[in-house]
Amino acid sequence: MDFDLFVIGAGSGGVRAARMSAQLGARVAVAEVSDLGGTCVNLGCVPKKLFVYAAQFRRGFADAAGFGLAVDAPELDWPTLRDNKNREIKRLNGIYGNLLENAGCTLYRGRATITGPNSVQVNGETITAQRILIATGGWPFVPDIPGREHLITSNEVFHLESWPKRALVIGAGYIAVEFAGIFNGTGVETTLVHRGDQVLRGFDDDVRRFAQTQYEAAGLQLELNTQVSSVEKTSDGFQVTLTNGKRIDTDLVLCATGRVPNTEGLGLQTVDIKTDDRGTILVDDEFQTTADNIYALGDVVGRAELTPVALAEGTYLAHQWFGEGGKPVRYDVIPTAVFSEPNIGTVGLTEEQARREHRITVYESEFRPMQNTLSGNPLRAYMKLIVEQGSERVLGVHMVGPDAGEIMQGFGVAYAMGATKADFDQTIGIHPTSAEEFVTLRTPRKETP
Ligand code: FAD
Ligand code: NDP
Repeated sequence: MDFDLFVIGAGSGGVRAARMSAQLGARVAVAEVSDLGGTCVNLGCVPKKLFVYAAQFRRGFADAAGFGLAVDAPELDWPTLRDNKNREIKRLNGIYGNLLENAGCTLYRGRATITGPNSVQVNGETITAQRILIATGGWPFVPDIPGREHLITSNEVFHLESWPKRALVIGAGYIAVEFAGIFNGTGVETTLVHRGDQVLRGFDDDVRRFAQTQYEAAGLQLELNTQVSSVEKTSDGFQVTLTNGKRIDTDLVLCATGRVPNTEGLGLQTVDIKTDDRGTILVDDEFQTTADNIYALGDVVGRAELTPVALAEGTYLAHQWFGEGGKPVRYDVIPTAVFSEPNIGTVGLTEEQARREHRITVYESEFRPMQNTLSGNPLRAYMKLIVEQGSERVLGVHMVGPDAGEIMQGFGVAYAMGATKADFDQTIGIHPTSAEEFVTLRTPRKETP
């Protein structure tokens, strides 16, 4: 065999697995058809968060007036943001290259196709390996709407020629609400169209309700319980027709309707790798596919489409294969944040999930964050603790409000350790912060009989 491990895809999970395996002494090769670092670095978490900062800075100018620092909110200079972002991403691409090189991995630039249980082909060359790891990530799913060719996805939004004055976003998942916040926060007249009656399916219902009121308070136009029936090109942009009969003129239509596993041209059939109806590669507890010697991790196996999850899976496999055994990934402890305006941070069960299996007490608080007092910014914050009766174990921690993503990481540790309400209560608050509210919640919510 040429290598002990051949990794297909140099994204979050692939690079982690490759690098750690090589550091543990394995002979490792990696193939990447596009830019090093994968979705997160090039078309996901990183550039998205940079754009979120741009929106926050612009809001900051408006908020500053009440603190005696009046300046007009500046217009976004899109080429500056885009080009500075591109420079930063290029720097990160280089770092990922160095990480692989310094660990001793061999990098193949090109699309890899699996040709057998121990062989792949890249640019016509056949390479053999003891194990093959598929880490090819996901790709935006675009529904079949008349005028589909006018839609852009998160793949294109990072490289626009010009920043729109009006934008319409389809969907109400992570990407949709984050980009709606970025557009809205940078002064773009923004509409979000969602087929359901509430944003962010899967999140706690109170969080969803509260976030939705905040999105509207921040200036986002919500079109709920409706779908896009067509998109037509007009002289100065696009006209979007909704199934509720409304027509909306816009400069850009961003389709954020979920992602599908990226397995095109991978050669799954050659080795009889089975997938589910969505194309998600089926793996067992050891991430082995239905084919001998071939494994898969990250978005392509779709357990939780988050970078830290792909990283944890990569770490586990490297230690399992070439170290002294890996620590299984704890899928029950996945803190997550939505970088919308305002942020959402959450770890553990939603109230709906908790009620199914436990008797619970709910503590909650809604307030105006201090930074929004003098500014006149109308956005409020919401916090919620879900506690199991009897054991007093905290089953869920949820927040909507400034810095919720940052705040939730620490509570994720407490949650992973099995913290109880008493542990929260005995913790001294940090004053004055929003986060201290989590350790000062004393009165349970009155349950309606
Ligand atoms: P990827 O990072 O997608 O890497 C797969 C790589 O494989 C790609 O580089 C691809 O080019 C390559 N590849 C595919 N096929 C082949 C082939 N045949 N041969 C060679 N190479 C191939 N997660 C968070 O945790 N926080 C966030 O804030 C966040 N924001 C996001 C924002 C957006 C807009 C998007 C789209 C995603 C976001 N995510 C976020 C999700 C996160 O990016 C993914 O969960 C993560 O990148 C998955 O890692 P992966 O290793 O499975 O795949
Ligand atoms: P999501 O699955 O989060 O959301 C998809 C949205 O599109 C839902 O609101 C869904 O509605 C809607 N939808 C799906 N199909 C259709 C359709 N045919 N017509 C109209 N609406 C439709 O996907 P995203 O693309 O937003 O993100 C993909 C994943 O990437 C996320 O789940 C997350 O794991 C990851 N991510 C993480 C981020 C973070 O950590 N901050 C940021 C961005 C992405 P419905 O609810 O009715 O099904």
